[in-house]
Amino acid sequence: MENLENNLKILKELGFEEIFVKNTKEELLKQLNEEIQKCTKCDLHLSRTQAVLGEGNPDAKLMFIGEAPGADEDRLGRPFVGRAGQLLTKAIQNAGLKREDVYIANINKCRPPNNRTPTIEEQEACLPYLLRQIEIINPSVLCLLGATACRGILKREVQITKERGKILEWQGKKVFLTYHPAYVLRNPKEEGTFFEDIKKVVELARSDG
Ligand code: SF4
Repeated sequence: MENLENNLKILKELGFEEIFVKNTKEELLKQLNEEIQKCTKCDLHLSRTQAVLGEGNPDAKLMFIGEAPGADEDRLGRPFVGRAGQLLTKAIQNAGLKREDVYIANINKCRPPNNRTPTIEEQEACLPYLLRQIEIINPSVLCLLGATACRGILKREVQITKERGKILEWQGKKVFLTYHPAYVLRNPKEEGTFFEDIKKVVELARSDG
């Protein structure tokens, strides 16, 4: 036992600690994914093809949170890959990052039928998974995309057209509020504002250590 402790200490001094932490994070996210694939806590499990955990850098400083998977996400098992996702990816790239640099997830892990907004009960049933995901990844900045993401995290109704651009504090992290990219697709005149918001949140994460 003493030998093992000494060896771990030497590896830590040699800079291997990060590798252990990263593996642990990936392992924890894998376990969480296995859990949600079996989850029947709300009726959204009845119509899903698969649950969608999220994806990205497990060490990301910046985490984007949307509402729920849509048809493309449900089919492919990846978040934000449809038209709205492509717009988000473009805005991230425009801000100087790659999609793989950040982490992207949703409040609900299963697709609501016909892409309706998940009910409050469905959001609350799923939220513990997202909270565990945030705990594992431990980003310094959360970017909440749209009213459902804001409600899930901030626990109050948010009129996103009035509150977008705000920076708030939540459990020691900075939280930035902006539109959901699907809203921007329906209101193309807001695209410039959305791109500027994503630049600001990327800058916020850069300046936060
Ligand atoms: S949406 Fe969340 S709580 Fe509901 S069944 Fe899917 S994983 Fe479970």
